[in-house]
Amino acid sequence: MKASRANVERTLNVREIGVKKKASVYDNVTRQFNKAADLVNLDPDIRKILGMTTNEITVHFPVRMDDGRIEMFTGYRVQHNNALGPFKGGLRFHPSVDIDEVRALATWMTWKSAITNIPFGGAKGGIQLDPFKYSISELERITRRFTFALGNNIGPEYDIPAPDVNTNPQIMAWIMDTYLSTMPPNERQRCTHVVTGKPIESGGSVGRDKATGQGVVFTIEEWAKDHGFSLDGATYLVQGFGNVGSWAARILKQKGSKLVAVEDVSGAILNLKSIDPDELINYAKNNGGLISGYPNAEPIEHDILLQTQADIFIPAAMENQITADTAAWISVKLVAEGANGPTDPDGDMNLRERGIDVIPDILCNSGGVIVSYFEWLQNKRSEFWELEEIDCKLHKKIVSAYTKVRDTAKEFSTDWRTAAYIVALSCLERVYKERGIFP
Ligand code: NAD
Repeated sequence: MKASRANVERTLNVREIGVKKKASVYDNVTRQFNKAADLVNLDPDIRKILGMTTNEITVHFPVRMDDGRIEMFTGYRVQHNNALGPFKGGLRFHPSVDIDEVRALATWMTWKSAITNIPFGGAKGGIQLDPFKYSISELERITRRFTFALGNNIGPEYDIPAPDVNTNPQIMAWIMDTYLSTMPPNERQRCTHVVTGKPIESGGSVGRDKATGQGVVFTIEEWAKDHGFSLDGATYLVQGFGNVGSWAARILKQKGSKLVAVEDVSGAILNLKSIDPDELINYAKNNGGLISGYPNAEPIEHDILLQTQADIFIPAAMENQITADTAAWISVKLVAEGANGPTDPDGDMNLRERGIDVIPDILCNSGGVIVSYFEWLQNKRSEFWELEEIDCKLHKKIVSAYTKVRDTAKEFSTDWRTAAYIVALSCLERVYKERGIFP
Protein backbone atom coordinates (compact mmCIF):
# COMPACT_ATOMS: atom_id res chain seq x y z
CA MET A 1 0.00 0.00 0.00
CA LYS A 2 1.35 3.42 -0.89
CA ALA A 3 0.92 5.88 2.00
CA SER A 4 -0.83 9.04 0.91
CA ARG A 5 -0.15 12.34 2.70
CA ALA A 6 -3.59 11.93 4.35
CA ASN A 7 -2.58 8.49 5.65
CA VAL A 8 0.68 9.86 6.99
CA GLU A 9 -1.11 12.70 8.76
CA ARG A 10 -3.66 10.35 10.24
CA THR A 11 -0.92 8.06 11.53
CA LEU A 12 1.00 10.96 13.02
CA ASN A 13 -2.11 12.24 14.78
CA VAL A 14 -2.81 8.82 16.24
CA ARG A 15 0.76 8.55 17.53
CA GLU A 16 0.70 12.06 18.96
CA ILE A 17 -2.43 11.39 21.03
CA GLY A 18 -0.44 8.80 23.01
CA VAL A 19 2.38 11.24 23.83
CA LYS A 20 2.39 12.34 27.47
CA LYS A 21 3.19 15.90 28.53
CA LYS A 22 6.80 16.42 27.59
CA ALA A 23 9.35 16.02 30.40
CA SER A 24 12.17 18.57 30.48
CA VAL A 25 15.12 17.18 28.55
CA TYR A 26 17.36 19.94 29.86
CA ASP A 27 16.67 18.70 33.42
CA ASN A 28 18.23 15.40 32.35
CA VAL A 29 21.31 17.22 31.06
CA THR A 30 21.61 19.12 34.35
CA ARG A 31 21.37 15.93 36.41
CA GLN A 32 23.94 14.15 34.21
CA PHE A 33 26.25 17.20 34.32
CA ASN A 34 26.03 17.60 38.12
CA LYS A 35 26.75 13.94 38.74
CA ALA A 36 29.95 14.03 36.65
CA ALA A 37 31.01 17.48 37.88
CA ASP A 38 30.71 16.30 41.52
CA LEU A 39 32.65 13.13 40.84
CA VAL A 40 35.51 14.86 39.06
CA ASN A 41 35.46 17.83 41.45
CA LEU A 42 35.07 20.29 38.59
CA ASP A 43 36.36 23.80 39.31
CA PRO A 44 33.31 25.76 40.62
CA ASP A 45 33.94 28.66 38.21
CA ILE A 46 34.17 26.37 35.17
CA ARG A 47 31.04 24.67 36.42
CA LYS A 48 29.18 27.99 36.28
CA ILE A 49 30.31 28.58 32.70
CA LEU A 50 29.54 25.11 31.35
CA GLY A 51 26.27 24.94 33.26
CA MET A 52 24.78 27.63 30.99
CA THR A 53 24.36 28.19 27.28
CA THR A 54 26.21 31.06 25.57
CA ASN A 55 23.50 32.34 23.18
CA GLU A 56 19.84 31.46 22.71
CA ILE A 57 18.30 32.81 19.53
CA THR A 58 14.54 32.60 18.98
CA VAL A 59 13.12 33.84 15.69
CA HIS A 60 9.51 34.24 14.61
CA PHE A 61 9.18 34.56 10.86
CA PRO A 62 6.42 34.66 8.23
CA VAL A 63 6.20 32.32 5.24
CA ARG A 64 3.73 32.36 2.36
CA MET A 65 1.88 29.05 1.95
CA ASP A 66 0.95 27.51 -1.41
CA ASP A 67 -2.63 28.83 -1.08
CA GLY A 68 -1.42 32.41 -0.60
CA ARG A 69 -1.91 32.58 3.20
CA ILE A 70 0.89 33.73 5.51
CA GLU A 71 1.84 31.44 8.38
CA MET A 72 4.11 32.39 11.29
CA PHE A 73 6.82 29.96 12.45
CA THR A 74 9.09 29.82 15.48
CA GLY A 75 12.68 28.68 15.09
CA TYR A 76 15.57 28.34 17.52
CA ARG A 77 19.34 28.22 17.52
CA VAL A 78 21.00 27.62 20.86
CA GLN A 79 24.78 27.95 21.06
CA HIS A 80 26.03 26.24 24.19
CA ASN A 81 29.81 26.65 24.07
CA ASN A 82 32.59 27.43 21.59
CA ALA A 83 35.74 27.07 23.67
CA LEU A 84 37.00 24.26 21.42
CA GLY A 85 35.93 25.70 18.05
CA PRO A 86 32.93 27.00 16.08
CA PHE A 87 29.47 26.12 17.37
CA LYS A 88 28.26 22.93 15.67
CA GLY A 89 25.04 20.96 15.69
CA GLY A 90 21.97 19.85 13.78
CA LEU A 91 18.65 21.41 12.92
CA ARG A 92 15.44 19.57 13.77
CA PHE A 93 12.00 20.09 12.19
CA HIS A 94 9.50 18.61 14.66
CA PRO A 95 6.43 19.65 16.71
CA SER A 96 8.37 18.90 19.93
CA VAL A 97 11.07 21.49 19.21
CA ASP A 98 11.16 24.10 21.99
CA ILE A 99 13.82 26.03 23.86
CA ASP A 100 14.22 23.31 26.50
CA GLU A 101 14.83 20.55 23.95
CA VAL A 102 17.20 22.65 21.84
CA ARG A 103 19.15 23.77 24.92
CA ALA A 104 19.68 20.13 25.90
CA LEU A 105 20.67 19.05 22.40
CA ALA A 106 23.12 21.97 22.08
CA THR A 107 24.78 21.07 25.38
CA TRP A 108 25.20 17.43 24.37
CA MET A 109 26.94 18.63 21.20
CA THR A 110 29.61 20.40 23.27
CA TRP A 111 30.39 17.20 25.18
CA LYS A 112 30.37 15.15 21.97
CA SER A 113 32.97 17.33 20.23
CA ALA A 114 35.16 17.31 23.35
CA ILE A 115 35.03 13.52 23.75
CA THR A 116 35.90 12.89 20.12
CA ASN A 117 38.61 15.53 20.09
CA ILE A 118 37.29 17.59 17.19
CA PRO A 119 37.70 21.37 17.15
CA PHE A 120 34.01 22.27 17.44
CA GLY A 121 31.73 23.62 20.12
CA GLY A 122 28.09 22.73 20.65
CA ALA A 123 24.88 24.15 19.19
CA LYS A 124 21.49 22.93 18.02
CA GLY A 125 18.43 24.43 16.42
CA GLY A 126 15.18 23.74 14.76
CA ILE A 127 11.71 24.81 13.86
CA GLN A 128 8.61 23.83 15.78
CA LEU A 129 6.47 22.31 13.05
CA ASP A 130 5.21 19.03 11.67
CA PRO A 131 6.97 18.88 8.29
CA PHE A 132 4.53 16.25 6.99
CA LYS A 133 1.84 18.95 6.90
CA TYR A 134 3.68 21.05 4.31
CA SER A 135 4.40 20.67 0.60
CA ILE A 136 7.99 20.51 -0.62
CA SER A 137 7.85 24.07 -1.91
CA GLU A 138 6.45 25.29 1.44
CA LEU A 139 9.26 23.46 3.27
CA GLU A 140 11.79 25.11 0.98
CA ARG A 141 10.40 28.59 1.72
CA ILE A 142 10.23 27.84 5.47
CA THR A 143 13.86 26.66 5.44
CA ARG A 144 15.10 29.61 3.42
CA ARG A 145 13.22 32.16 5.50
CA PHE A 146 14.51 30.58 8.74
CA THR A 147 18.08 30.77 7.37
CA PHE A 148 17.53 34.42 6.49
CA ALA A 149 16.11 35.11 9.97
CA LEU A 150 19.18 33.54 11.59
CA GLY A 151 21.39 35.78 9.44
CA ASN A 152 24.97 35.93 10.67
CA ASN A 153 24.13 33.95 13.80
CA ILE A 154 25.35 31.04 11.66
CA GLY A 155 28.49 31.02 9.52
CA PRO A 156 31.22 28.68 8.24
CA GLU A 157 33.71 29.67 10.93
CA TYR A 158 31.13 30.55 13.56
CA ASP A 159 28.16 28.17 13.77
CA ILE A 160 27.63 25.28 11.36
CA PRO A 161 24.24 23.48 11.20
CA ALA A 162 23.71 19.90 9.95
CA PRO A 163 20.79 17.48 9.52
CA ASP A 164 18.83 16.04 12.44
CA VAL A 165 15.29 14.70 12.84
CA ASN A 166 13.20 15.42 9.72
CA THR A 167 15.95 17.41 8.00
CA ASN A 168 18.17 16.04 5.25
CA PRO A 169 20.79 16.90 2.59
CA GLN A 170 18.20 18.74 0.45
CA ILE A 171 17.37 21.05 3.36
CA MET A 172 21.09 21.65 3.94
CA ALA A 173 21.47 22.60 0.25
CA TRP A 174 18.67 25.21 0.61
CA ILE A 175 20.33 26.61 3.74
CA MET A 176 23.71 26.86 2.02
CA ASP A 177 22.20 28.47 -1.08
CA THR A 178 20.25 31.02 0.97
CA TYR A 179 23.25 31.85 3.15
CA LEU A 180 25.56 32.24 0.13
CA SER A 181 23.00 34.36 -1.71
CA THR A 182 23.09 36.89 1.13
CA MET A 183 26.93 37.11 1.03
CA PRO A 184 28.89 39.53 -1.17
CA PRO A 185 29.53 37.72 -4.50
CA ASN A 186 33.29 37.52 -4.03
CA GLU A 187 32.92 35.71 -0.68
CA ARG A 188 30.42 33.05 -1.72
CA GLN A 189 32.78 30.32 -2.87
CA ARG A 190 34.68 30.23 0.39
CA CYS A 191 31.59 29.78 2.54
CA THR A 192 30.14 26.44 1.40
CA HIS A 193 31.09 24.92 4.77
CA VAL A 194 28.32 26.97 6.46
CA VAL A 195 26.44 23.65 6.71
CA THR A 196 27.47 20.00 6.64
CA GLY A 197 25.44 17.00 5.55
CA LYS A 198 24.97 18.59 2.10
CA PRO A 199 24.28 16.52 -1.02
CA ILE A 200 27.60 15.27 -2.42
CA GLU A 201 27.30 17.29 -5.66
CA SER A 202 26.79 20.46 -3.58
CA GLY A 203 29.93 19.98 -1.50
CA GLY A 204 28.84 17.16 0.79
CA SER A 205 31.09 14.31 1.85
CA VAL A 206 30.81 10.69 0.86
CA GLY A 207 29.99 8.67 3.94
CA ARG A 208 28.15 11.49 5.75
CA ASP A 209 24.75 9.89 5.12
CA LYS A 210 25.70 6.67 6.91
CA ALA A 211 28.18 8.26 9.36
CA THR A 212 26.06 8.24 12.51
CA GLY A 213 24.79 4.67 11.97
CA GLN A 214 28.31 3.58 11.03
CA GLY A 215 29.67 5.12 14.23
CA VAL A 216 26.96 3.37 16.27
CA VAL A 217 28.08 0.03 14.81
CA PHE A 218 31.79 0.78 15.37
CA THR A 219 31.08 1.35 19.07
CA ILE A 220 28.96 -1.81 19.26
CA GLU A 221 31.83 -3.76 17.68
CA GLU A 222 34.24 -2.45 20.32
CA TRP A 223 31.82 -3.40 23.08
CA ALA A 224 31.44 -6.87 21.53
CA LYS A 225 35.25 -7.31 21.43
CA ASP A 226 35.53 -6.26 25.08
CA HIS A 227 32.86 -8.77 26.08
CA GLY A 228 33.93 -11.67 23.85
CA PHE A 229 30.51 -11.39 22.22
CA SER A 230 29.90 -12.39 18.61
CA LEU A 231 27.75 -10.08 16.50
CA ASP A 232 27.21 -12.90 14.04
CA GLY A 233 23.72 -14.17 14.88
CA ALA A 234 23.14 -11.52 17.57
CA THR A 235 19.61 -10.08 17.69
CA TYR A 236 18.76 -6.38 17.81
CA LEU A 237 15.84 -3.97 18.08
CA VAL A 238 15.75 -0.53 16.49
CA GLN A 239 13.49 2.36 17.46
CA GLY A 240 13.43 5.00 14.71
CA PHE A 241 14.05 3.93 11.13
CA GLY A 242 15.33 7.22 9.70
CA ASN A 243 18.91 8.18 8.95
CA VAL A 244 20.51 6.82 12.12
CA GLY A 245 18.33 3.76 12.76
CA SER A 246 18.18 2.49 9.20
CA TRP A 247 21.92 2.83 8.59
CA ALA A 248 22.80 1.18 11.89
CA ALA A 249 20.38 -1.66 11.04
CA ARG A 250 21.83 -2.16 7.55
CA ILE A 251 25.44 -2.14 8.74
CA LEU A 252 24.70 -4.55 11.59
CA LYS A 253 23.11 -6.90 9.05
CA GLN A 254 26.50 -7.01 7.30
CA LYS A 255 27.98 -8.31 10.58
CA GLY A 256 25.50 -11.21 10.54
CA SER A 257 23.21 -9.74 13.22
CA LYS A 258 19.41 -10.16 13.00
CA LEU A 259 16.92 -7.30 13.27
CA VAL A 260 13.87 -8.71 15.09
CA ALA A 261 11.75 -5.63 15.82
CA VAL A 262 11.68 -2.07 14.60
CA GLU A 263 9.54 0.99 15.20
CA ASP A 264 9.00 4.35 13.57
CA VAL A 265 6.42 7.07 13.97
CA SER A 266 3.85 4.93 12.12
CA GLY A 267 4.13 1.94 14.50
CA ALA A 268 6.20 -1.09 15.42
CA ILE A 269 6.73 -4.45 13.70
CA LEU A 270 8.20 -7.80 14.78
CA ASN A 271 9.58 -10.92 13.13
CA LEU A 272 11.59 -13.16 15.45
CA LYS A 273 13.21 -14.90 12.45
CA SER A 274 14.53 -11.48 11.30
CA ILE A 275 13.50 -8.46 9.29
CA ASP A 276 15.73 -7.56 6.34
CA PRO A 277 16.68 -3.87 6.84
CA ASP A 278 17.50 -3.36 3.14
CA GLU A 279 14.14 -4.77 2.09
CA LEU A 280 12.42 -2.64 4.74
CA ILE A 281 14.15 0.50 3.44
CA ASN A 282 12.91 -0.21 -0.07
CA TYR A 283 9.42 -0.82 1.26
CA ALA A 284 9.46 2.44 3.26
CA LYS A 285 10.68 4.40 0.20
CA ASN A 286 7.43 3.51 -1.55
CA ASN A 287 5.34 4.00 1.58
CA GLY A 288 5.84 7.69 2.37
CA GLY A 289 9.05 6.85 4.29
CA LEU A 290 7.11 4.73 6.82
CA ILE A 291 7.40 1.07 7.86
CA SER A 292 3.73 0.45 8.71
CA GLY A 293 2.10 -2.27 6.63
CA TYR A 294 5.41 -4.03 5.87
CA PRO A 295 4.23 -7.48 4.83
CA ASN A 296 7.06 -9.66 6.21
CA ALA A 297 6.52 -8.82 9.89
CA GLU A 298 3.58 -8.52 12.27
CA PRO A 299 2.45 -5.19 13.70
CA ILE A 300 3.01 -4.86 17.47
CA GLU A 301 2.35 -2.21 20.11
CA HIS A 302 5.07 0.22 21.19
CA ASP A 303 5.24 -1.40 24.66
CA ILE A 304 5.84 -4.82 23.10
CA LEU A 305 8.79 -3.50 21.10
CA LEU A 306 10.45 -2.29 24.29
CA GLN A 307 9.74 -5.64 25.98
CA THR A 308 11.07 -7.80 23.14
CA GLN A 309 14.05 -9.85 24.23
CA ALA A 310 17.19 -9.32 22.15
CA ASP A 311 20.93 -8.80 22.55
CA ILE A 312 21.06 -5.13 21.54
CA PHE A 313 18.58 -2.25 21.56
CA ILE A 314 19.33 0.80 19.41
CA PRO A 315 17.02 3.71 20.26
CA ALA A 316 17.34 6.03 17.25
CA ALA A 317 14.28 8.27 17.47
CA MET A 318 13.48 10.81 20.19
CA GLU A 319 14.39 11.64 23.81
CA ASN A 320 13.04 10.13 27.04
CA GLN A 321 12.11 6.69 25.72
CA ILE A 322 13.82 4.71 28.51
CA THR A 323 12.47 6.15 31.76
CA ALA A 324 11.40 5.10 35.24
CA ASP A 325 8.21 3.80 33.59
CA THR A 326 9.76 1.83 30.73
CA ALA A 327 13.35 0.86 31.66
CA ALA A 328 12.22 -2.27 33.52
CA TRP A 329 10.75 -3.61 30.27
CA ILE A 330 14.05 -3.53 28.43
CA SER A 331 15.47 -7.02 28.16
CA VAL A 332 18.79 -6.77 26.29
CA LYS A 333 22.52 -6.94 27.06
CA LEU A 334 23.37 -3.58 25.50
CA VAL A 335 21.61 -0.29 24.79
CA ALA A 336 23.51 1.58 22.06
CA GLU A 337 22.12 5.11 21.98
CA GLY A 338 21.81 6.23 18.37
CA ALA A 339 19.37 8.96 19.44
CA ASN A 340 20.25 11.92 21.63
CA GLY A 341 18.89 11.62 25.14
CA PRO A 342 16.79 8.44 24.77
CA THR A 343 17.44 7.46 28.40
CA ASP A 344 16.59 9.71 31.32
CA PRO A 345 18.54 9.52 34.62
CA ASP A 346 15.93 7.25 36.28
CA GLY A 347 15.99 4.95 33.28
CA ASP A 348 19.79 4.92 33.45
CA MET A 349 19.74 3.87 37.09
CA ASN A 350 17.34 1.03 36.38
CA LEU A 351 19.44 -0.30 33.48
CA ARG A 352 22.60 -0.12 35.58
CA GLU A 353 20.99 -1.99 38.50
CA ARG A 354 19.96 -4.75 36.12
CA GLY A 355 23.43 -5.04 34.57
CA ILE A 356 22.45 -3.71 31.14
CA ASP A 357 25.35 -1.89 29.48
CA VAL A 358 24.77 1.49 27.84
CA ILE A 359 26.94 3.14 25.20
CA PRO A 360 25.86 6.73 25.86
CA ASP A 361 24.59 8.99 23.09
CA ILE A 362 27.43 11.51 23.25
CA LEU A 363 29.83 8.70 22.37
CA CYS A 364 27.64 6.27 20.44
CA ASN A 365 26.16 8.70 17.89
CA SER A 366 29.23 10.92 17.51
CA GLY A 367 29.98 9.49 14.04
CA GLY A 368 27.74 12.17 12.52
CA VAL A 369 29.62 15.14 13.89
CA ILE A 370 32.97 13.45 13.22
CA VAL A 371 32.22 13.06 9.51
CA SER A 372 30.65 16.53 9.47
CA TYR A 373 34.06 17.74 10.61
CA PHE A 374 35.64 15.83 7.70
CA GLU A 375 33.16 17.48 5.30
CA TRP A 376 33.99 20.92 6.74
CA LEU A 377 37.71 20.25 6.28
CA GLN A 378 37.23 19.08 2.69
CA ASN A 379 35.26 22.24 1.85
CA LYS A 380 37.90 24.49 3.41
CA ARG A 381 40.64 22.75 1.44
CA SER A 382 38.61 22.21 -1.78
CA GLU A 383 39.23 18.47 -1.54
CA PHE A 384 37.19 15.32 -2.03
CA TRP A 385 38.16 12.36 0.12
CA GLU A 386 37.41 8.72 -0.75
CA LEU A 387 34.92 6.69 1.31
CA GLU A 388 37.68 4.35 2.46
CA GLU A 389 39.61 7.28 3.91
CA ILE A 390 36.50 8.67 5.65
CA ASP A 391 35.58 5.31 7.19
CA CYS A 392 39.14 4.69 8.33
CA LYS A 393 39.46 8.13 9.96
CA LEU A 394 35.99 7.81 11.55
CA HIS A 395 36.89 4.40 12.95
CA LYS A 396 40.12 5.72 14.45
CA LYS A 397 38.44 8.71 16.11
CA ILE A 398 35.44 6.90 17.52
CA VAL A 399 37.46 3.95 18.83
CA SER A 400 39.83 6.36 20.53
CA ALA A 401 36.84 8.12 22.17
CA TYR A 402 35.36 4.74 23.15
CA THR A 403 38.63 3.69 24.77
CA LYS A 404 38.89 6.94 26.75
CA VAL A 405 35.31 6.57 28.04
CA ARG A 406 35.75 2.88 28.90
CA ASP A 407 38.99 3.52 30.79
CA THR A 408 37.54 6.53 32.61
CA ALA A 409 34.52 4.47 33.71
CA LYS A 410 36.94 1.94 35.19
CA GLU A 411 39.10 4.62 36.84
CA PHE A 412 36.14 6.33 38.53
CA SER A 413 34.08 3.14 39.04
CA THR A 414 31.16 4.84 37.37
CA ASP A 415 28.70 4.32 34.54
CA TRP A 416 29.70 5.09 30.97
CA ARG A 417 27.55 8.19 30.60
CA THR A 418 29.14 9.81 33.64
CA ALA A 419 32.55 8.69 32.36
CA ALA A 420 31.86 10.32 28.98
CA TYR A 421 30.91 13.55 30.76
CA ILE A 422 34.12 13.35 32.83
CA VAL A 423 36.22 13.08 29.65
CA ALA A 424 34.44 16.10 28.14
CA LEU A 425 34.40 18.25 31.28
CA SER A 426 38.07 17.58 32.07
CA CYS A 427 39.05 18.62 28.55
CA LEU A 428 37.02 21.84 28.71
CA GLU A 429 38.27 22.62 32.22
CA ARG A 430 41.87 22.40 30.97
CA VAL A 431 41.13 24.74 28.06
CA TYR A 432 39.44 27.34 30.28
CA LYS A 433 42.32 27.22 32.76
CA GLU A 434 44.87 27.69 29.96
CA ARG A 435 43.02 30.54 28.27
CA GLY A 436 41.63 32.28 31.34
CA ILE A 437 38.56 34.49 31.33
CA PHE A 438 38.56 37.86 29.55
CA PRO A 439 39.15 40.56 30.80
P1 NAD B 1 15.20 11.00 11.03
O1 NAD B 1 14.23 12.07 10.90
O2 NAD B 1 15.99 10.58 9.85
O3 NAD B 1 14.50 9.68 11.62
C1 NAD B 1 13.79 9.69 12.80
C2 NAD B 1 13.05 8.36 12.91
O4 NAD B 1 12.41 8.29 14.18
C3 NAD B 1 11.95 8.19 11.87
O5 NAD B 1 11.95 6.85 11.44
C4 NAD B 1 10.68 8.51 12.65
O6 NAD B 1 9.54 7.90 12.09
C5 NAD B 1 11.05 7.93 13.99
N1 NAD B 1 10.25 8.45 15.10
C6 NAD B 1 9.93 9.75 15.37
N2 NAD B 1 9.17 9.83 16.47
C7 NAD B 1 9.03 8.55 16.92
C8 NAD B 1 8.34 7.98 18.00
N3 NAD B 1 7.65 8.73 18.88
N4 NAD B 1 8.40 6.63 18.15
C9 NAD B 1 9.10 5.88 17.29
N5 NAD B 1 9.76 6.36 16.23
C10 NAD B 1 9.71 7.69 16.05
O7 NAD B 1 16.18 11.42 12.23
P2 NAD B 1 17.66 10.94 12.52
O8 NAD B 1 18.58 11.91 11.87
O9 NAD B 1 17.78 9.49 12.23
O10 NAD B 1 17.75 11.19 14.09
C11 NAD B 1 17.32 10.23 15.04
C12 NAD B 1 18.00 10.50 16.37
O11 NAD B 1 19.42 10.45 16.19
C13 NAD B 1 17.72 11.89 16.98
O12 NAD B 1 17.76 11.77 18.39
C14 NAD B 1 18.90 12.71 16.51
O13 NAD B 1 19.13 13.83 17.33
C15 NAD B 1 20.00 11.68 16.65
N6 NAD B 1 21.21 11.95 15.86
C16 NAD B 1 21.16 12.14 14.51
C17 NAD B 1 22.34 12.37 13.81
C18 NAD B 1 22.36 12.50 12.33
O14 NAD B 1 23.47 12.55 11.75
N7 NAD B 1 21.26 12.55 11.64
C19 NAD B 1 23.55 12.45 14.49
C20 NAD B 1 23.58 12.23 15.88
C21 NAD B 1 22.40 11.98 16.55
